[in-house]
Amino acid sequence: MTALDFDARHLWHPYTNVLNPGPMHLITDAEGVWLTREDGTRMIDAMSSWWCAVHGHRHPAIIGAMTEQLQKMPHVMFGGLTHQPAIELGRKLVDLLPDGLDRIFYSDSGSVAIEVALKMAVQYQMALGHTGRTQFATIRGGYHGDTWKAMSVCDPVNGMHGLFSGALSIQHFLPRPPISLDQEWADDPTKNGLGALEKLLETKADQIAALILEPVVQGAGGMYFYHPKWLRQAQEMCKAHDILVIFDEIATGFGRTGELFAMDHTRVVPDIICLGKALTGGHITLAATAATENVARRIGESEASVLMHGPTYMANPLACAAAMASLDQLSVRDWRAEVHAIADQLTHELAPARQFPGVKDVRVFGAIGVIEMEQWVDPSVAHALAPKTGVWLRPFARNIYCMPPYIISADELSSVTSAMVSLARDLS
Ligand SMILES: *Cc1c(COP(=O)(O)O)cnc(C)c1O
Repeated sequence: MTALDFDARHLWHPYTNVLNPGPMHLITDAEGVWLTREDGTRMIDAMSSWWCAVHGHRHPAIIGAMTEQLQKMPHVMFGGLTHQPAIELGRKLVDLLPDGLDRIFYSDSGSVAIEVALKMAVQYQMALGHTGRTQFATIRGGYHGDTWKAMSVCDPVNGMHGLFSGALSIQHFLPRPPISLDQEWADDPTKNGLGALEKLLETKADQIAALILEPVVQGAGGMYFYHPKWLRQAQEMCKAHDILVIFDEIATGFGRTGELFAMDHTRVVPDIICLGKALTGGHITLAATAATENVARRIGESEASVLMHGPTYMANPLACAAAMASLDQLSVRDWRAEVHAIADQLTHELAPARQFPGVKDVRVFGAIGVIEMEQWVDPSVAHALAPKTGVWLRPFARNIYCMPPYIISADELSSVTSAMVSLARDLS
């Protein structure tokens, strides 16, 4: 059996038919923006390997920091023990996050960071004596991960978890903020969607622990960009009812939208924030949930007294060392200029796709470029084309999109946009 035959026969791949996985590429090497296949052909990773590898693959500074840590201590438990990589990364995160978000809980993946945030919110409410507040409010079109509770706050119909809707706990879904990023804000609550939140809070506040959402950019729920003003007013309304606000910046954190965090497009600071994906620059898995002093203190003073969570690989030193080196890259290079240049080029080069009959919308925000089709796009079509175009794309739902590493050159990005535009043309 060849390696690829074994893979097809025995290995599950994400959101992929186990009996008919479609075209599969065996990758032997990843460096910078390039992925190399077994036969030597190369493809640009226009996905940053699911939005993580923002500084490119196998970055020398990150590899160096990991190698050094690997020689000293790849792992040690975090219960009762601590270490420099966790402390230094903590200092860095507290420094980068807005004032107030300074109590950090490390975990091993984005979904777990969401579980931790939801648990924090429920324990916070219990501490206040609000024992009935065990449910969550969120907006339609969201995506927060694949674990059970995270799934329950993903879009209930169009999301990837519609299948499980009968088995998930009840949550409260608000309409997606209707005013998009490029539209003008309207103060009328029937137009800006906040009327629905107001109504929900008036009737159900005593059941709701927190409002959870992705600020400004909804990623895997549909690549939708909405007006940041929605967040400001939503937060004020939640605050009046003692309902916490949780921002999921797992996809948007660390520069992707042109600001360090998507929430920086407005002045809203949540009670809890979740980080992941680009945290280690795509070198190893790590996530973090940061809470305010108020949330941490209430839980600490509560009857339960501890946050009931503790992953085996919590604060893994190797991952913390990688994250430190990755975050250092944000100060070494002018990532903001890189992202703005990518945004300009994407805007320019994706525009021709607007004319194709099968294209519904073309939109760009920071280093995110989206061609939304009228019809669902079969990802295996893009997978099969990749060796020929030299560009690795993985469309989902109706979206042909890219989230390239910030270090991509203008020529390399042109290859990406032309692969996207020609795929949209072929499918039109
Ligand atoms: C990817 C993602 C998650 C889940 O992270 P995993 O590391 O895949 O568990 C949660 N929220 C958002 C917004 C994401 O993009």
